[in-house]
Amino acid sequence: MTFEQLGLIKPILQSLSAEGYENPTPIQEKSIPTLLKGTDLLGCAQTGTGKTAAFALPILQQLQADPIDFKNRKIKALIVTPTRELAIQIDESFKTYGKHLPLKSTVIFGGVNQSKQVEILKKGVDILTATPGRLLDLHQQGFISLRDLKVFVLDEADRMLDMGFIHDVKKLLKIIPEKRQSLFFSATMPPPIQELAKTILRNPTLVEVTPVSSTAETIQQKIYFCETAEKKNLLVDLIHDNRMKSVLVFTRTKHGADKVVKWLLKNQITSMAIHGNKSQNARQNALNAFKKGEITALVATDIAARGIDIDELKWVINFEIPNIPETYVHRIGRSGRAGNEGIAFSICDPTERTYVRDIEKIIKKQIPRGN
Ligand code: AMP
Repeated sequence: MTFEQLGLIKPILQSLSAEGYENPTPIQEKSIPTLLKGTDLLGCAQTGTGKTAAFALPILQQLQADPIDFKNRKIKALIVTPTRELAIQIDESFKTYGKHLPLKSTVIFGGVNQSKQVEILKKGVDILTATPGRLLDLHQQGFISLRDLKVFVLDEADRMLDMGFIHDVKKLLKIIPEKRQSLFFSATMPPPIQELAKTILRNPTLVEVTPVSSTAETIQQKIYFCETAEKKNLLVDLIHDNRMKSVLVFTRTKHGADKVVKWLLKNQITSMAIHGNKSQNARQNALNAFKKGEITALVATDIAARGIDIDELKWVINFEIPNIPETYVHRIGRSGRAGNEGIAFSICDPTERTYVRDIEKIIKKQIPRGN
């Protein structure tokens, strides 16, 4: 299957080939034709599957077919996502894929001053990506009108609920037009999510790709057992011995992340932390430095790492084992994206052994032992 066969237009095909995308991923193959027809979509998929392009490409194609009032652009597509990092990435994707189209997009999120965001909104955009709080806030202040909305995307619905955004989502549903195309994405579909989906979607097409637990199959994994006090040395050894140039290291706590950064720096391994206590700017700087290859290790907590998307990331190290087994799958899923090689190491001390047992239950295999 090619992108051309999915019915995409030339200006979009050009951007895709410039990005080096040769073939659509399964979710793109299944979603794009139905979305181009204007159908609602219930997508059971996590990041790393090519989900963003699956919705961004048909949105771009549909909006470019509409006449644009260049002096008075109206928001025609709204994408709501739980974290700033995800929001930024989605907007970047729209810009990349829509490079040859006359559409404008922007992104808004909380935790930073609103004035730059308002300035861009005032100039007019066709596509808006937002986190829920800032969206409602700017709407209330009168800087956003959603009256002309045609497409609404709710991304990562399960995380949205986990993060307590349900009321914001309900408020939002009251201010968007009833007549619209709606897309709903979630990695998991427990009953509350299904209920929410029902209130948003009409006769949706269901698209399901790789359930969470099977991601683990494409990534090489190894687990090392040691005493708590030996963890830090083992971490440094693993980075050195494997000549890692770029590694994402996970800790369970913010404090833990800072301690790991200090230790790595002491051992001449350049690193920065990314967690909730850092300002939005500091987090973005750390992420950028990592993406540009200026630092070897990015040390992250789970919340901070949600949805961060680093192209061609090969190495992930779990410095601490997560106590929620699905988190393990999400963490290692940061590596080996879009067909690249991914290798995940975990360092386990005696207190974490029960977590490993739970993880092995959900991934349905034993993680190979490294020692
Ligand atoms: P997503 O699931 O949207 O976070 O996408 C995961 C990664 O796959 C991103 O880095 C995309 O740039 C990349 N990607 C998306 N679609 C394709 C494709 N058809 N071919 C190659 N890479 C892709």
